[in-house]
Amino acid sequence: MGVLYLTYFTILGLIFGSFFNVVGQRVPKNEMLKESRSYCPKCGYKLNWLDLYPVLSYITLKGKCRNCKTSISPLYPIVEATTGFLFAYSFIRFGFSAELIVALLFTSLLVIITVTDLTYMLIPNVILLFFLPLLIIGRIVSPLDPWWDSLAGGATGLVLTAIIIIASRGGMGGGDMKLFGVIGIVLGLPGVLLAFFLSTLYGSLISGVLLLFKKIDRKKPVPFGPYIVLGALTSYFFKAPIIDWYLHLF
Ligand SMILES: [Zn+2]
Repeated sequence: MGVLYLTYFTILGLIFGSFFNVVGQRVPKNEMLKESRSYCPKCGYKLNWLDLYPVLSYITLKGKCRNCKTSISPLYPIVEATTGFLFAYSFIRFGFSAELIVALLFTSLLVIITVTDLTYMLIPNVILLFFLPLLIIGRIVSPLDPWWDSLAGGATGLVLTAIIIIASRGGMGGGDMKLFGVIGIVLGLPGVLLAFFLSTLYGSLISGVLLLFKKIDRKKPVPFGPYIVLGALTSYFFKAPIIDWYLHLF
């Protein structure tokens, strides 16, 4: 029975991941309701049902548009596969519990933010405002211990990022600050501090490697959102063992 549910959540994640690609690409351009079917940005070819299988379509099309053979961004299948994995992993961790709802909502928010920030260097308010009430309800149904840890976490997320924005003058933006506020509500105070530390760690490590291999330009701004997402996910799923390990160092 476990395998059946696991397959179910993986497929659910793949389908939602495909939808999150569309949301992440369209919401910043206000195109969400404009055209119901996805199309190739190069030749305008409207994708039919054969092109819309998550991950599988990308593999069978060898990453190219069926019509004009323009390369399709690997971001699409990566987002689909990652969402499939995150949904399945959330089920493994929490089973059928109230926390599973929080996990599915939280991972969904983080995946969409990754798409918008990588594509447009933007964390749209609409996305944050859509998930904020849902996550607050999630944290009421599945509260942290103590329950007010959500309030402390949210406030700390906002204040901490605000200080960094003022001190670094452009390292992070207002979108990052609001995102950290939402992340704090889900993770609580220790969790948001860990997420904050991990995002800056991931940011410096990964952008260091990318600079080394000249994959990014030192002078151009890089989106920080994906590092926040990585830090938040690590903290959400592995907060307890990491903090435990850290405390045993002394
Ligand atoms: Zn095309």
